[in-house]
Parts: sequence; structure tokens; C-alpha cells
Amino acid sequence: MGRVYLIGAGPGDPELLTLKAARILAQAEVVLRDGLVSREVLAMVAAGARVIDAGKRCGRQGLGQEEINALLVLYGTQSEVVVRLKGGDPSVFGRAGEELEALRDAGIEVEIVPGVTAAVGAAAAAGISLTDRRLASQVVLSTYSRRAGSGAGEWGALTPETTLVLYMPGREYGEIAQRLREAGLPADFPCVIVSSIGRPEQEIRWSNVGRLGSEARLSPPAILIAGRVAAREWKRRGGAVLQGFDEALELAGVNEKGG
Ligand code: SAH
Repeated sequence: MGRVYLIGAGPGDPELLTLKAARILAQAEVVLRDGLVSREVLAMVAAGARVIDAGKRCGRQGLGQEEINALLVLYGTQSEVVVRLKGGDPSVFGRAGEELEALRDAGIEVEIVPGVTAAVGAAAAAGISLTDRRLASQVVLSTYSRRAGSGAGEWGALTPETTLVLYMPGREYGEIAQRLREAGLPADFPCVIVSSIGRPEQEIRWSNVGRLGSEARLSPPAILIAGRVAAREWKRRGGAVLQGFDEALELAGVNEKGG
């Protein structure tokens, strides 16, 4: 009997891996990898390890969650060091809950090795803080879901002091914008979309709730941050000061009035 490690690979840059993740990858016998794990991180897996691609990509279906659970249980009974390797952090939209349960039910030891989740990676790439004593007192990590009956309410209690991070924003930015409006956010509420965090093809698009619907879609993987915390950096980068933006800028102390 071995141990299964649910390892967070971070957004792509291998330097963002924890030392523990790097050590275990170098000892791994079997690795079940996600579609979002970068080539550079995969290069850190032990040379002799069996690497199984469980991810869905480019229209390819990938393994179902039941199959992945079964494989983790199977390898967990056969090998010493088994790794389930995920982009970002395994516990954020990473199906870690199901995998932990399946392994524990089978009596297999399992451990989570955290990683840099995309919300944190995107904030770093854009050069913004997710919370700010002056501007944002809570962070909501959520997804954009088109499921029937899923209203803006599922994004929790959005206030102007919330930084909302939307994983998997999809292609319907207009619908997201509309739901943000319905949740009570003003048209000038700042947003930033970051795609392919930390990779050569990384793109950062500064926008706001009013303009979001007409932005061209960024290639996946992309993540959207909506929050006053994006206002200051927007201005520093020469973005036009939009109507009503002043309040956020003043709070951040960066407009004429605020100094
Ligand atoms: N466990 C992952 C999230 C998996 S859900 C984490 O903690 O980051 C997949 C979504 O995560 C993508 O649709 C995108 O919104 C976001 N994401 C993951 N990696 C990303 C990256 N390198 N660049 C931008 N977004 C990323």
C-alpha cells in the first residue's frame, strides 16, 4: 500500500511549485495528470514514472471522474508514490472532494499538496492585490455557470467591496456582465481577464462591467477578476478614467482629490 498525493501544479511556471511538490514528483511511480499542467512541470516527474493523461483537451473527452477515482484506488494499492497532478490547487474547482472520498473509502492514505490557484496567479500577473484594506474586504471564488436556474445569487453576497474571481468564464462575457449588473454592480466596476497565466502567450485585458460584453474572448484557460482592486492599476497603465470610477480611485488614493 502506498500513498496518493493530490498535488497542485500551479498556473504553469515550475518555479511556483512548492518544494514538497517538486520532491514528490521526482519520486513518483505513477502520475495521473490534468490537461492544465504545463510541460515544464511535467518535466519534473521522475524519468521512469508512468504518466497517464486524464485531462480533456482540444475536444478530446478525457477520463471520467469515476474512472479517475478507480485508477487512483488501483494504483494506490499497487505503488508507493502515486500522484494526482492538477493545474492550480487541487481543492479549488479540482474535484479533490470526490478523489479524497474514494481513496479514504478504499482505505488508502491520501495527502493534499497545495498549489498556487489561478486566482492568486492571475492577481500576481496583473499586479493587483485581491483584498485591500481600503477597497475590498472579501474575495469570492466562483465559476460562471449556465446551468438552468443558476442565478447571480450563486456568486454569494456581492458588494462593491467584493473581489469576485470567476474561473471558467467561458465565451459569454455579455451574460456575465449582465449578471454582474443584476447583482448590483455599477457599469464602471473594474474587471481584468488573464489568460494563460505566466506562459509566453499570457494576455491581460483590462475592462469594466459596462464594456465586458463587447470584449473579444481571450483563449482558454482564462480567469476573470472583477473588483475595485483593479482600478488603480488600470489608471497606472493609462486607462481612461471612466464615469464613476473616481470613487474607487479616491478610495485607493490615486486621483487628484485623493492625491
Ligand atoms: N484547480 C485549478 C482550477 C481548475 S478549473 C486552480 O486552482 O487554478 C479550470 C479553470 O481555472 C480555467 O477555466 C481557468 O479559469 C482557471 N485556470 C487554471 N489555470 C489557468 C492558467 N494557467 N491561466 C488562466 N486561467 C487558469
